[in-house]
Amino acid sequence: MRTVTTSKGRPRKYRTQAERVRARKEAAERWYAKNKVYSVKTIKRWTELGNLIKTGMKFCPRCEEDLPATDDYFYPRPASIDGFTTYCRDCQSELSTENYYRNKKLKKAVRVESSNGLRKAHKRSL
Ligand SMILES: [Zn+2]
Repeated sequence: MRTVTTSKGRPRKYRTQAERVRARKEAAERWYAKNKVYSVKTIKRWTELGNLIKTGMKFCPRCEEDLPATDDYFYPRPASIDGFTTYCRDCQSELSTENYYRNKKLKKAVRVESSNGLRKAHKRSL
């Protein structure tokens, strides 16, 4: 195997930039785990969970209201830490509707563009 050396004559530790970045990231993660440093997001999540356990209320960031953390007010979501969706039932259904129409509009636009523009351009190139 050919060994790559740096300009200073030392053998290079990482062959590619991606390898080097990954190694740095892993080292950083190890350091964070060792020093018990957590991201702001993680701490915020724990605080929210603590409040939920203490008061039984969950805050909906969209309508900015404290609601009881039950199936009547929040949709169940097993993947989340507290078992409920981030937003309350009303906000969640509004968001889903909005996203549905937004995605639909986008998909339609892409389809029109591809059928009219790209196909014609492709035909012309043949
Ligand atoms: Zn809400």
